[in-house]
Amino acid sequence: MEKFQLLVEHLKSTGLFNKACHFRPGISKIELLQQGHCPNYIQRFISNTLTAKELRRMGLPWSEGLVKRTLISPNGTFLTAQLALKHGIACHLAGGTHHAHVDFASGFCIFNDLAITAKALLAQGKVNKILIFDCDVHQGDGTASILQHEKRAYTCSIHCEKNFPAKKALSDFDVGLPPGTSDKEYLDCVQSTLDVAIKNQQPDLILYDAGVDIYQHDPLGLLNITLQGIRLRDKMVLETSKKNNIPIATVIGGGYDDDRYALAKRHAIVIEEAFTAFTH
Ligand SMILES: [Zn+2]
Repeated sequence: MEKFQLLVEHLKSTGLFNKACHFRPGISKIELLQQGHCPNYIQRFISNTLTAKELRRMGLPWSEGLVKRTLISPNGTFLTAQLALKHGIACHLAGGTHHAHVDFASGFCIFNDLAITAKALLAQGKVNKILIFDCDVHQGDGTASILQHEKRAYTCSIHCEKNFPAKKALSDFDVGLPPGTSDKEYLDCVQSTLDVAIKNQQPDLILYDAGVDIYQHDPLGLLNITLQGIRLRDKMVLETSKKNNIPIATVIGGGYDDDRYALAKRHAIVIEEAFTAFTH
């Protein structure tokens, strides 16, 4: 949890975080959460009546503080997507809880901000087609499953095949990479997958999960991607969306490290690259 605060502090220290471009989401309306989740599950999480088994699968201890941040975060991704539609680019300093399913939490993810945002924007008629481009090292199984019958939301996941979750869902497009994949093959894969998805789907908006658990020293990742590889990936995705005139909203996704400062700096890469790509 500490990484979120450290990310803000790091961005302040680099001058990328200022009041003019800073927005704070409030708590999500229940109707927004219901775009992706069943009412009974939402209420049982809020009132701390999930079963012990459900809590184990969630992977986080329940607390009032957890409820508060879990209720705010999906609204942050929703707000980010709306700002991206207006300005071409917007970055959420959280988000990417892609393992959350319709009626259960999994892998530290409780409400699925990506699926919720996609469904809410489609329901409001703000977009006709949305691409969820998930580059976290773990498959976006919850997103794929919540959106499986929503043809206007195209789910694309590039992940490590041998990693969590053991039982993969079926995204519209899955790329399961072998453990140890390094920069060159990874970046070629990201570019070609994104190019094909844009060409075939012609999305009005891209939701980009820029998870940094692809990093070679991440304890929960199995890929061999360098810091420079992460930077090149983010630059590539952002520049490709800009070149195609498709608004892009980014979320930070997964990333793990005992050194929280180093982790916050890794999550800052996508924001730094967004700043560079869209101001030059
Ligand atoms: Zn992950």
